[in-house]
Amino acid sequence: MARTTYRVAVVGGGFAGLQAVRTLCAKEVDVTLFEPRQSLVMLPALPDVAGGWVEPHMVATPLTTLLPRNVKHEWCGVSEIDLEQRLVVADGIEHVFDSIIISSGARTAPSPFDQASKKAHTLNSLEEALKLRDDFVSYLTTVTKPQVVIVGGGYTGLELAASLAARAKFEQKSCRITVVEMAAAVLSFVPQRWHRRLMSVLKEAGVEIVTGTQVTAWDGQNVTAGGKEYRDVFFCWAAGSVFSDLTLHGEAERLPDGRLVVAEDLSLAPYPGIFAAGDAAAIKFNGVVFRKAVNFAWYGGAVAGKNVIALLSGRRTKPYRPADLGWAIPLHTTGVGQIGRTIWFGGTFALRVHYLMCGFRSPRFSQKLGFAKIGVTLFKTDKEDNMKKIFWGDTKDANLGLLLMRLFTGGAMLTHGVPKLFFTLDKFTEIVASLNLPMPGFLAFMAALSESLGAALLLLGLCTRPAAALLAITMAVAAFVVHGADPFAQQELALFYLCSSLLFMFKGAGKWSTDALIRR
Ligand SMILES: Cc1cc2nc3c(=O)[nH]c(=O)nc-3n(C[C@H](O)[C@H](O)[C@H](O)COP(=O)(O)OP(=O)(O)OC[C@H]3O[C@@H](n4cnc5c(N)ncnc54)[C@H](O)[C@@H]3O)c2cc1C
Repeated sequence: MARTTYRVAVVGGGFAGLQAVRTLCAKEVDVTLFEPRQSLVMLPALPDVAGGWVEPHMVATPLTTLLPRNVKHEWCGVSEIDLEQRLVVADGIEHVFDSIIISSGARTAPSPFDQASKKAHTLNSLEEALKLRDDFVSYLTTVTKPQVVIVGGGYTGLELAASLAARAKFEQKSCRITVVEMAAAVLSFVPQRWHRRLMSVLKEAGVEIVTGTQVTAWDGQNVTAGGKEYRDVFFCWAAGSVFSDLTLHGEAERLPDGRLVVAEDLSLAPYPGIFAAGDAAAIKFNGVVFRKAVNFAWYGGAVAGKNVIALLSGRRTKPYRPADLGWAIPLHTTGVGQIGRTIWFGGTFALRVHYLMCGFRSPRFSQKLGFAKIGVTLFKTDKEDNMKKIFWGDTKDANLGLLLMRLFTGGAMLTHGVPKLFFTLDKFTEIVASLNLPMPGFLAFMAALSESLGAALLLLGLCTRPAAALLAITMAVAAFVVHGADPFAQQELALFYLCSSLLFMFKGAGKWSTDALIRR
C-alpha cells in the first residue's frame, strides 16, 4: 500500500493502543498516538509492586523502545473527542482525523470522599503503586496499631490485601487488614470448594472481609463502615473501575461504567471510522460482556487497527472473536483461576499461571525471565525462609565447612580420576565391560572424566553444581552397581563421595569459591 494521508489517532498507549499502533504502522498509515505516560505498564502486577514484591523495572517498559519509528507520539492526554467531527482535543489543541481508535483503558471509580481523597491510595498506575508501597512501609513503622482498610472486594482489592498482609508479616508487624465490600459476597462466582480455601488463607494472613457494608465516612485518618469506626487507618480505594478521564461528544451507547458499547468489529455503530478496544470498549459476545483483561486488550487493539486498514482499502471489516483461554487471580500465597470457562484450578498453580502470563505478555526478555522465576519459585514467606536458614544456612561456619569439605572431596577424588584417565583407562574399561554394562568404553571414559575434570572443578568451586551432579552419578554407579554385591566396607568410600557430591549439587560451593567470585 502506498503511503497515504489517511490520518489515524490512537488514544491511549496501553496494551490495546500499542497493538493498534503496531498494526497500523506496518501498513504505513499516518498514525498519531496520544499517551501521556512514558511506559507500558503490566497492570496485573501492580498489587505485587505495592507490596514491594516486584520491582518497577519488571512491570514498566519505556514506550520509546516499543513504538514503531513512523508513529507520531504526542506525550499528552486527550481531554475531549467529538465523534461526529472525528476531532480530538489534546493540550487545548484540536486535531482532526479520518479514523480514531479509543484505547484509553479504565481507571478506579472515584471515591466520594473528595475532601480527603488525597490520602486514599489507589492502584491505577505504577506511580500510585510505588507511592502505596513507600507510604505503607513508613505507616507500619510509625503507627502503633496499624490497620488497613481497603474499599472494594474485587480482584484488585483482594490482591492488594493479600500483598500488603504479606508485607506486614515480612516486616514483622502485626497489621489488621479489612476489605469492605458493598455486595453480599466476594468472589461469588468461584465454586464453594475453592472459595472456602481462599477465604481461610486470607483469614490466616490477617485479612478480614466485611461484606454487605459500605464505607460511610473517611476524614483522612479514620474510617466508618457499617457503624464501626477504624482509627488511624491506611486507606485504599479499589471500588470498581470506570471509563478513563475523557469527555466524549456524541450519541455512543455506553455501559453504566462508561465503557463504549461496540459492534462486533469494534466500531462505534453510528460513527464509521471510530473504533474502541481494550478496557475502553464493552464487547458483547453471546450476550456476555468481555471482562477487562490484558489478552482481550492485546488482540482487540490489533483487530481495531486491521479494521481501520480494511475501511481504508474498501474491504469488509472483520469481527473480533477472541478465544477466552481463562484467567487467574493471585493472592500472594494462593490463587484461583479458570481455563476456558469450565475447568477450575487453584492454590500455587493459579499463582504460577498468573506470573507466567505476566511474563508472556511482558515485552522484554529480562521481564519474561523475571516473571518466569517468580512463577517457579513464588514469593518467599518468612516460614520458608526459616526452613531455608535451618537447612541452607549461609553463616561463616557453614561456608568454612563447605570449603574444607570441597577441598578434601575434590582433591581426594582427583587422586582416583587422573590415573584412571591418563594411565589405566584400558584396565578400567575391562572392569566396566565385566559388569555387562552397555558401551563400556564410553562409560569408563565418562567416569574417569568426571572423577578428574569434575573433581578439579569441585576443588576450584567452579561450575560446582553440574560438576557435583556428574560426580554423584558416577559415585552412585560405583556404590550400587560396581560394589553392589560387596560388603559395606567396600561400598563405604563410594557412598561417602556420593553424599558429599549430593551436598554440593544441592547447596552449591558456598561463599568462598570461584562461583561466588563470578557472581559478585
Ligand atoms: C490492579 C490490576 C490488576 C489487574 N489484573 C489483571 C490480571 O490478572 N489479568 C488480566 O488479564 N488483566 C488484569 N487487569 C486488567 C488489565 O490490566 C487491563 O484489562 C488491560 O491493561 C487493558 O489494556 P488497555 O490497553 O485497554 O488499557 P491500559 O493498559 O489501562 O492502557 C490505557 C492507556 O491509556 C492512557 N490514557 C488514559 N486516558 C487517556 C487520555 N485521556 N488520553 C490519552 N491516553 C490516555 C493511559 O495512560 C494508559 O497508558 C488488571 C488491572 C489492574 C488495574
